[in-house]
Amino acid sequence: MREDFYTRLKAYEGREAAVGGVGKDLVNEPMIRHWCEAMGDTHPAYAGADPVAPPTMLQAWTMGGLSGHGHGGRSEAYDELLALLDGAGYTSVVATDCEQEYLRPLRPGDRITFDAMIESVSERKTTKLGTGYFVTTRMDVRAGDEPAGTHRFRILKYVPAGQRRRNGTAESAAASRPKRPRPVVNRDNAGFWEGVARHRLLIQRCEKCRTLRFPWLPGCNACGCLEWDTVEAAGEGTVYSYVVMHHPPFPAFEQPYAVGLVELAEGVRMISNVVGVPHDRVRIGMPVRLEFKRVDEELELPVFRAAEGSGG
Ligand code: ZN
Repeated sequence: MREDFYTRLKAYEGREAAVGGVGKDLVNEPMIRHWCEAMGDTHPAYAGADPVAPPTMLQAWTMGGLSGHGHGGRSEAYDELLALLDGAGYTSVVATDCEQEYLRPLRPGDRITFDAMIESVSERKTTKLGTGYFVTTRMDVRAGDEPAGTHRFRILKYVPAGQRRRNGTAESAAASRPKRPRPVVNRDNAGFWEGVARHRLLIQRCEKCRTLRFPWLPGCNACGCLEWDTVEAAGEGTVYSYVVMHHPPFPAFEQPYAVGLVELAEGVRMISNVVGVPHDRVRIGMPVRLEFKRVDEELELPVFRAAEGSGG
């Protein structure tokens, strides 16, 4: 049965995913400048009298924007393939990675055209997110008639690992919830986790220029010095930014939850959970205070509790 299904999926390999695509705008300097500003890329080749576009903008020239493409959109074959996967229960989708090759620089005035094909459908794979199939599309981008580059884009269509729990009670879901992922501890950040074990949040400090840095890194971003010591964070901070995670569902977490980018009083920022306030009450600028939360018998994590009254 499964082989039959996979054979049906494989039959889509080589079929078109998008045909006759035309870039909405010619390659142009304002879009190049906006991209460079957003990326913080100050390379001189992308500015000045005769700029080229950053190669990684390749896909940007093919995008339809909010209004979409009048043509060059998704093909029937691609829609059919996704519908086939949806129908078999692989209803969730996550973009996993992309690969690009660059064949020719793009310059202001270049007219972009593109086609895309369904390059491959993987065998059925089980990942931490769930079980499903990787679908890779390959887009060939041209400037005028010349090949300019290739953009491969891979998605996973999957059955969420936690889905079967939907019929159970919230309590049984919590009891059977997998443990949270373990932090990756290596020689560059071991000191941080040793600090956490002693309920101290340690920030690295460059011994030469005294610049604070977080997360932990082997060297100083400001001066390159490899020597460092630490300062202990006082524990005061504010929410610099945040996102509320709804999707994709990770079985170890109970959605939705707020992930905060917390600016510590010392000036560095760290990503952590904001606790003590409902996820929809987290706000930028909200004062928070460090505490250490025992997640399970092996893991304690620094988290940030919203200050008294912040919840409104
Ligand atoms: Zn330094």
